[in-house]
Amino acid sequence: MDLDTDIVILGAGLSGLAAAETLSAAGERVILLEKEREAGGLARTVSYKDFKFDLGGHRLYFQDDALAARVEKLLKPEPLLRLKRRSSNFVNGRFLSYPPTLLNGLLYAVPALLKRLRGPGSKPPPEGSLKGWLHDRFGSGIHDAYFKDYTLKTWGLPTESISSVWAERRIGPMSLKNLFLEMLFMKSASKENTLDFLYPRGGIGGLCAALQKKLPAGALRTGAVPLEFGTDGGKIKSVLFEQDGKKRRIACRQVISTIPLTGLATLFKEDPGPAASARGVKYRSLIVLFASMKRKAPLRDHWVYFPEKEVFFSRACELSNWSAAFAGEGGALPITFEVFCDEGDETWRMKDEDLLKETERSLRAMKIFGDFETTEFTAVRLSHAYPLLYAGFEGPLEDLNSALAVYRNLELCGRTGAHSYLDMEECLHAAAAAAARVLAKK
Ligand SMILES: Cc1cc2nc3c(=O)[nH]c(=O)nc-3n(C[C@H](O)[C@H](O)[C@H](O)COP(=O)(O)OP(=O)(O)OC[C@H]3O[C@@H](n4cnc5c(N)ncnc54)[C@H](O)[C@@H]3O)c2cc1C
Repeated sequence: MDLDTDIVILGAGLSGLAAAETLSAAGERVILLEKEREAGGLARTVSYKDFKFDLGGHRLYFQDDALAARVEKLLKPEPLLRLKRRSSNFVNGRFLSYPPTLLNGLLYAVPALLKRLRGPGSKPPPEGSLKGWLHDRFGSGIHDAYFKDYTLKTWGLPTESISSVWAERRIGPMSLKNLFLEMLFMKSASKENTLDFLYPRGGIGGLCAALQKKLPAGALRTGAVPLEFGTDGGKIKSVLFEQDGKKRRIACRQVISTIPLTGLATLFKEDPGPAASARGVKYRSLIVLFASMKRKAPLRDHWVYFPEKEVFFSRACELSNWSAAFAGEGGALPITFEVFCDEGDETWRMKDEDLLKETERSLRAMKIFGDFETTEFTAVRLSHAYPLLYAGFEGPLEDLNSALAVYRNLELCGRTGAHSYLDMEECLHAAAAAAARVLAKK
């Protein structure tokens, strides 16, 4: 055996780093294997030439005050900015505040809601789907006006093919009455729509960088790709990995995986069970296009959603509104555009120049910047940005989890690793819980 450790952690995104930090503080020897050259996963701040940008807008919001205080302490001396969310939908040539204000609600949501009073639609939507969930609560008007096109654009599937579990997790316990009260008082019960958020001044990647600094030297191996598990008697005994062209094997007592389940399943070379069960587990991909653009003024908001199907991208983040650390130079302002796709599809395979051309074409058609000129751009492709909660995803996920449960010293953790729609606070909780389970098994 080339190396020996207590715990191997696959993936050094927020969940992997947080679990590693807790376990090494508890005296465990940890090795983290990360396939990319940098740690941080989805919560990374990318450096490109003189620019920095996050992989899509990432704000920190906490329900757990003690965790918020821990994060603030961890980030020191980097300031944690306290920002008031400004976001909108751009529809029919107008910016509509989102979450909706009372005025927006009266102008746009009420006509959609009134459709409900005119009776049910022709055919009841499938139970367990996002469409059914929306129809039950708000009627067909809200579905048609706000969710139909955006869902297809974001997830690549119509609302009848997206699970209601997604709505439960991301929209929450919402009713017509709540919707109006929220618009009236501009206060949201849903965590997703919360109005205040925190943001590390130098970018969201500051959080992962701070966790990384707490790890002992040599614990994190980047550019390290796991190839195969050595298994025996329902346990993973070793992990074979490749780094810088060299293959090495690590003996371990425990494995925590935060990598996509579909990739994890392929590491069991002697057991075809996990790979066979993984076929129905799906992820949605995302391309983040960064551009520095000379234009008259920044967008008013931190971010703007673009639900219309004619617009190439789904969301734009105006970086200088997030932090002065991103302010542009010479009249050029940095911005990111998020484009949803599936790994390997036509959009995924587009050259960066063509992604920019399509983005610019949409911007010109919408006339939101007037004249503009792109001075720099680059694109980052994220193959497993979102767990895809399609209607019926639970069955295949359960099958795969059962095939993996055979291995008693394997813990699945985090958003990507447990295929669960978690935000960063939830990832930090999940990492702490996984670390506690590992310590309890000792
Ligand atoms: C566009 C976007 C916006 C978001 N906005 C917010 C927000 O505003 N607020 C919020 O709280 N949350 C937000 N999130 C969610 C947040 O990014 C995640 O909850 C969190 O970063 C997930 O961390 P993770 O470690 O579980 O997964 P990941 O970040 O996916 O980490 C997995 C790691 O495993 C590595 N890996 C993958 N395959 C392998 C392999 N075979 N071998 C080794 N390593 C591998 C990856 O490179 C990655 O580093 C957003 C997510 C996206 C995509």
